Amino acid sequence: MEFFIDLATVRNITRQEEAQAREEIAGIGAIGAYQQSLRRHDERLARASDASTLACKAGCSWCCHFSVDIRPVEAFNILEHMQIVFSAEQRDSLAQQMVANSKILGHLDDMQRMQHTLKCPFLMQDKCGIYEARPQTCRNYHATNSAGCQQSYEEPDNLDIAPEFAPLVYQSGGAHVDAFSKAIQDAGYDHAAYELNSAMTELLADPVGIRQRFDTRMPAFTGIQGTEVALEFFELDE
Ligand code: SF4
Repeated sequence: MEFFIDLATVRNITRQEEAQAREEIAGIGAIGAYQQSLRRHDERLARASDASTLACKAGCSWCCHFSVDIRPVEAFNILEHMQIVFSAEQRDSLAQQMVANSKILGHLDDMQRMQHTLKCPFLMQDKCGIYEARPQTCRNYHATNSAGCQQSYEEPDNLDIAPEFAPLVYQSGGAHVDAFSKAIQDAGYDHAAYELNSAMTELLADPVGIRQRFDTRMPAFTGIQGTEVALEFFELDE
């Protein structure tokens, strides 16, 4: 599908976000910087001129039945949020669901994983249970008609479905995430994508060890690798 790229907006976001993220990573560390960056991310999405056309709303959860990839900083932020909003029993239940989902997804290759529907463990009563800490991928959803999302859910192996979307929300969110990822990458931290269930299972089992690996610039997780996406919006700025 062809659409107009607002290069001025993309360049503004990538330059501003990369500079600010670099400064914050150096000052308060990668995880604190990510938490600051999330606020700007939400503001940029809300400011996109087509944000009012989004169909995404509480109770619509077709997209929450597909595998989600996260980066280590996102996993640490989710863990911190889980400690605040969930009881020990809820965390145990979530951990069990993540172990079960990891076993299913661990047998699939990248394409099969993309085409496999599986409820996200954080989807609770049709709402995101970690909404404030939800991954960047989930924040960047940009559908303007839920019919396409529903069809994708009902026909997960049909790759010809092209849900209608808000191009400026897509570009604003993509540019922001690319710029923050570039800053994390340049600081030497693991910025690889990992499958959410697999990464969170590892993190819940060994939060101290995983944090040590991340802080010493080693690969944080050993489980299911996510699908790497090029920093496409960042490259538009070059
Ligand atoms: S983290 Fe939240 S928004 Fe993302 S897929 Fe899971 S329930 Fe949906």
